[in-house]
Amino acid sequence: SYASFDRNKTHVNIGTIGHVDHGKTTLSAAITKRQADQGLANFLDYGSIDKAPEERKRGITIATAHIEYQTEKRHYCHVDCPGHADYIKNMITGAANMDGAIIVVAASDGQMPQTREHLLLARQVGVQKIVVFVNKVDAIDDPEMLELVEMEMRELLSTYGFEGDETPVIMGSALCALENKRPEIGETKIDELLKAVDDWIPDPQRDLDKPFLMSIEDVFSIAGRGTVASGRVERGTLKREEEIEIVGKGDESIKTKVTDIEIFKKSADRAQAGDSTGLLLRSVRREDLRRGMIVAKPGSLKAHTTFMLSLYVLSKDEGGRHKGFHENYKPQMYLRTADESVTLTFPEDMPREERKSKMVMPGDNVEMVAEIFHPAPVEIGQRVNIREGGRTVATGIVTRIIK
Ligand code: GDP
Ligand code: MG
Repeated sequence: SYASFDRNKTHVNIGTIGHVDHGKTTLSAAITKRQADQGLANFLDYGSIDKAPEERKRGITIATAHIEYQTEKRHYCHVDCPGHADYIKNMITGAANMDGAIIVVAASDGQMPQTREHLLLARQVGVQKIVVFVNKVDAIDDPEMLELVEMEMRELLSTYGFEGDETPVIMGSALCALENKRPEIGETKIDELLKAVDDWIPDPQRDLDKPFLMSIEDVFSIAGRGTVASGRVERGTLKREEEIEIVGKGDESIKTKVTDIEIFKKSADRAQAGDSTGLLLRSVRREDLRRGMIVAKPGSLKAHTTFMLSLYVLSKDEGGRHKGFHENYKPQMYLRTADESVTLTFPEDMPREERKSKMVMPGDNVEMVAEIFHPAPVEIGQRVNIREGGRTVATGIVTRIIK
């Protein structure tokens, strides 16, 4: 029977991506079957993965199956989505974060529009490494066809900034593996695939090892002691007396020291990712600080005004707008604990006529340029929410910094 979760193994989040019907769900089932044979998973059949439960995140409905298995080396949480729209929402909202991904491409079709779209999104959400599984090899007699699919996938990976030449490409049949047929293209290839995933997808960097960052939720002063900024530590660690920089809301950054750290109303030596904490700041006045500013390791963050967003616009059923919007839409944008008025426009390279007439509809995925008035700390991969009249109308991810 299945060995329970082993904390000594590194935990990695991955998932299957790729064009509809190329075999993502079949492959996911085949992996659990192969690992179950070795006591490293519970077998999940195709049906139980494909009827993924619907989750609601920020009002958005996403169907995602979370599948768990191990290799000798690692513990994996693997996501598989039933529909293309679920992948888009999942990747933009981060409902299931992926440290790496397996892109499935059917040898019989080669790369298709969703193959490209998922690769681009994977790049935008910060996935660094991909493993390719060329599936349905059982249905192909011509070896040249397989070579062509591999070559084109390597080119596509390079186009999107992945290491196309070095990326492992495994060719096999998920269906054969699932049905215990032709082991040379079935179970053997599942083993090769998981070996490639183990070796090629790096251990995720733990939040604790990243540069310190806390977004300020509240500011108050303590008589006789000074000003305290409170919030939840997003990443990194901070010790008492450490230098920090406060960035955001358009003003020059403030460099100072943290003279005390408070957690659960008690003084602490350090604060770390996940802690809700109050930081006592040397010679900072209460009126110099505002909710939405960021306390960070000096030099680790910069404030910007203009950046590209990949947006998912909520449908009416998801609580979003009932009508579309044009360019120069001006809603509120929530960046961590900050909220700013934002102007949304189409990318510069869109022809003038097109940008005048284009309407973004509820349910769309679209690239837009966001401009805010006060420079705020923004990073590639950061998630934002767009709200209007007190409700979320879109959610997005920062894909490029412009200014
Ligand atoms: P998804 O939409 O990417 O999740 O694709 P599915 O896993 O649902 O598979 C789509 C269809 O392809 C199903 O009918 C599968 O049985 C079939 N399929 C999956 N893997 C293979 C394979 O290795 N060989 C063949 N011949 N068919 C496969
Ligand atoms: Mg599927």
